[in-house]
Amino acid sequence: MKECPKYTFGVGDRFAHNAHAQLQAFIDAKALGIDITPTWNKSNREHDIIGSEPQQTRDAADQAVADLGWTGEYLLDADHINLETVDRFIEPCNFFTLDVADDIGTAADPADVAAFISKHPELIGSISIEGIDQPFEITQEDIEQTANQFLKATQKAKAIYQHIVAAKGGTDDFVTEISMDETDNPQTPPEMLIILAAIADQDIPIQTIAPKFTGRFNKGVDYVGDVAQFEKEFNDDLAVIAHAIKAYGLPTTLKLSVHSGSDKFSIYEPIKKALARTGAGLHIKTAGTNWLEEVIGLAEAGGEALSLAKEIYANALEKKAALCQPYATVIDIDDSRLPSAAEVDQWSSQQYVAALTHDPSNPSYNAHLRQLLHVGFKIAAQLGDQYLEALHSNREIVGKKVTSNLLERHMKPLFA
Ligand SMILES: [Zn+2]
Repeated sequence: MKECPKYTFGVGDRFAHNAHAQLQAFIDAKALGIDITPTWNKSNREHDIIGSEPQQTRDAADQAVADLGWTGEYLLDADHINLETVDRFIEPCNFFTLDVADDIGTAADPADVAAFISKHPELIGSISIEGIDQPFEITQEDIEQTANQFLKATQKAKAIYQHIVAAKGGTDDFVTEISMDETDNPQTPPEMLIILAAIADQDIPIQTIAPKFTGRFNKGVDYVGDVAQFEKEFNDDLAVIAHAIKAYGLPTTLKLSVHSGSDKFSIYEPIKKALARTGAGLHIKTAGTNWLEEVIGLAEAGGEALSLAKEIYANALEKKAALCQPYATVIDIDDSRLPSAAEVDQWSSQQYVAALTHDPSNPSYNAHLRQLLHVGFKIAAQLGDQYLEALHSNREIVGKKVTSNLLERHMKPLFA
């Protein structure tokens, strides 16, 4: 097992053109005493939509690391992969996010469920966990129900893990995450305990786990939900993880992974408090926030670049249904709040930047337009060289946006 550093931060680089600007944020953070490990994450779905390959993400990251003289660790995350999609990630990646969401709810072999229950009498009854006030009360029916919900998924995770080990020729040079965030129902802390016991039974050296938390994690915009409830759940999950590490011999580096969908500013403070209180590590994934900063940078640059940003919006509006379809569960767009293409066409740089920049205190900020553009990166991919050339010609202004967004809005609030 490759040991995962304590704080790892996922940056998606959809078009593999801003690895330098992203790495710069880590360099600036380090100068402020914030020690976080860059982790370039790009999911199979994003590669498919853009028509890119994982090796391109690796090449861009390696180049940035060489050019900027980064001597720290860095990771390449095969984000949300499964047995069918993992192969092209094996060579370039050293962090694998095993997505088992599709198997949640698929019942396991009844004999396996029975064996799990008889192996874990300690999970039945009143279970006291250090750091959680009320003991969990888990009945035999609860554990059976949870096993039927999740056991199959952990078996699937094992199959993917073994496939990677076989292809890599060993277990030494990668980090394993299991993700369950892209599913309908949040997992409760007692369920998390049962799931971790099942993962330990499968002998998967899991170092990060991404549950689905309560509330909505819509793409590109702030958390929608009860922050106090999130805080309790997050703290309880940390306590469960600490307990499971001891009880089941899971790696001591095991930590929570928050797949944020970018920009969940209102939960950063509770997360920061919890980390300070417990000393726990964290993996956080952002992705689309970086692509949106590219569009903001182009809009700010004005001229042809602003026209291109307007064209991207007009096309995204026209193809809204198709763009939103794969992300239906993680966006809430009110059509009546989307400006028309004709209206946006009249906008100045400043108007476009104000509408798209995630600054809730600015009355011109438009969360609906932001979500649409967040899922609209396919439009830029279809523009091909025209988009990439615009990134090139405006790389200074775009790069500044990408760096300062990561540093000021994400890293400092979470880790400073
Ligand atoms: Zn995710």
